[in-house]
Amino acid sequence: MQLHKHRCVTRKVGANHPLAGKAVYIPAMAEGSVEALCAVLRWLGIDARPTPPSNARTVELGGNYTSGDECFPAKITTGDFLQIAQQPGFDARRTVFFMGTTDGPCRFGQYAPFLRKVLREQGYGDVVVLSPHGEHGYSDFQDFDTAFVRAAWRAVVAADILRKLLLQTRPYETLLGTADRAFSESLKDFCQTLEYSCSDSTCQMRSLTASLSRARARFRAVPACFDPKRPLIGIVGEIFCRLNNFSNQDLVRRLEGQNAECWMADIAEWIAYTNTEEVRNLRLAGRTYSWPMIKSKLRSRIQHADEHALRSLFVEDFEGYEEPGIDEVLKLARPYVPFPGAEGEMVTNVGRSAWLALRGADGIVDISPFTCMNGVVSEAIYPKLSRDYGGIPIRNFYFDGQQSDLDRDIGIYLELARSYRGKKPYMRSYARRFSWPEHRADMPEVVH
Ligand code: SF4
Repeated sequence: MQLHKHRCVTRKVGANHPLAGKAVYIPAMAEGSVEALCAVLRWLGIDARPTPPSNARTVELGGNYTSGDECFPAKITTGDFLQIAQQPGFDARRTVFFMGTTDGPCRFGQYAPFLRKVLREQGYGDVVVLSPHGEHGYSDFQDFDTAFVRAAWRAVVAADILRKLLLQTRPYETLLGTADRAFSESLKDFCQTLEYSCSDSTCQMRSLTASLSRARARFRAVPACFDPKRPLIGIVGEIFCRLNNFSNQDLVRRLEGQNAECWMADIAEWIAYTNTEEVRNLRLAGRTYSWPMIKSKLRSRIQHADEHALRSLFVEDFEGYEEPGIDEVLKLARPYVPFPGAEGEMVTNVGRSAWLALRGADGIVDISPFTCMNGVVSEAIYPKLSRDYGGIPIRNFYFDGQQSDLDRDIGIYLELARSYRGKKPYMRSYARRFSWPEHRADMPEVVH
């Protein structure tokens, strides 16, 4: 038999590419996702880095250049970018700041123009603000080709998977810090694998699945004792605040600290939603049979196949934690948010909350920035949704950088979740590991 010989080839942008030779900074919205996205850019030979961890100076600088009308994530990202700009030796002409945008119903579309204005006023007008648009499922990432969009999608899905493994393992670890260590080692492994992966998409997928298999082994080796009595809290809300631990004052860890387990809505859901919206808008514009429609459908199909290939490694691990399809989320949201008038995260928040209730969650927490219009609309809908779904407790936590007694509020909320747990109409399906008697010593060793 003749063996097919494949020679791996790395993929690099040319010296004339507008990003070649520049440092690209991406806001560290979600731990894991930003590192993976930077790895994709480095795969192309672009020097990409997450913005450094936010701190008190972030809030101070962000506060100095915002009026108070802006959303909290705008303040945080502006503060983080300005911290970079104020570093000694900063070269504006060789720097690119990444800031997504959308036409959507809220203020997110203003972030990029606002950042450009602040940078210009502070003398950093030469910095390029790179701003892909949500209307095209974030596929118009400057002049990058489909290989980049595909690799970026794989990075997003893989980071979602690693975060999910972390959240479902950490509350039950019996050796403090082992789940976090499994996460950071797996993330490093994945990013290195991706950065040096082949330009052939099949070959790249092979190396990425091998990396995720190693991650699976690491998490399975975390000594843990799974306790089905812990309440399961679904986490929804505004994407930045929900995922950014600095902005939400580590709310998930605080919930875990009071013996809850969290199930966070992931980033892939939002991208699937923007794809669906793109198709809907093309239909409304009478472009059902058009090249953009074909492109959009093709992209969704390929993304779906890649997502399936990556997630299928975790069928056993995610038993009882299967993610809903976007159509299911939208269907469940429809009775509460007028279709097609309402758009954005209010739709996914409401739909996912209903879905989590049906999956037997013991409560829902919505994490949003203070005055976020998606958060406010969702909050107005939650009482009815809660009544319709057996009285599941749903609580909004708003953040604006001010301190409050969060742990006390979490404690009160979890009491409600525990009492709902005893009478909830929807039962949870538990993964097999919840019936294991002891620590998971029977699991395979980590293979490097
Ligand atoms: S979702 Fe909320 S926080 Fe984010 S830009 Fe819109 S209004 Fe602001």
